[in-house]
Amino acid sequence: MKLFFAGTRGEIEEENKRHKYHSSLIINEKKLSILIDIGIKHSEDLYNKVNQLDAVMITHAHPDHYLWTIKADDHLKALVYLTENTLLYSKYKPKNYKVIFPDKPFFIGHFEITAYDVIHSLRCPAVCYKIKGENSQIIYAPDILDTVSPKELVFKGVDLLVADGSSYNVSLVRKRDGNLFGHAMIKTIINWCKKYYIKNLIITHCGKQIVSGNEEEIYKNILEIADNIVNVIIAYDGMEINYDKTIVL
Ligand SMILES: [Zn+2]
Ligand SMILES: [Zn+2]
Repeated sequence: MKLFFAGTRGEIEEENKRHKYHSSLIINEKKLSILIDIGIKHSEDLYNKVNQLDAVMITHAHPDHYLWTIKADDHLKALVYLTENTLLYSKYKPKNYKVIFPDKPFFIGHFEITAYDVIHSLRCPAVCYKIKGENSQIIYAPDILDTVSPKELVFKGVDLLVADGSSYNVSLVRKRDGNLFGHAMIKTIINWCKKYYIKNLIITHCGKQIVSGNEEEIYKNILEIADNIVNVIIAYDGMEINYDKTIVL
């Protein structure tokens, strides 16, 4: 399974060379390419080649993941998989779309995919995607405070988690009318990996601490917490890896 990170920046004003474009991932295996998320701030390169991809999947309607929330766009012709929540929230729609349902597996070619609801936004409910390829099973969860279903179920059989780098150790948890929303800290996500035996973690959707702070220093701290139990890397725009159950550090 090939992973190409077209963007790794979260919903922040700050940007740098490594994290310029909104988080977006292309998964490629057996000549099949799926793009997950395409936000307002995407590279021209991604936009130009988007019609060579076989499918697009959307996690939620925040504009850093789904450009149609605020912009009409008919350029993209591939089938866009999204939840009803995402479709109803946004002002515009992709040309070709297919509504998917959380917890119900579906196939795109040989990929078996399940969307799971995650706690993240009250207005814009989000999902993460579990994707089963030939030899590995990964989860893409760029915006996540927590899973809704038990993690034993969501993380079962997963060997790589690609997840939210909005904050390293500053709490981004908010509460309204008793409901939580926001983002989990990287520290917490590493602990999920330890607890649920996920060996590999790639951080994307980078927030202020990584983008305008000292990424190297944060990465050192991350490795300390990961304690050689979890392999962790911080993705950057344009990063491509051949993933086969182990990420190379
Ligand atoms: Zn986001
Ligand atoms: Zn979001």
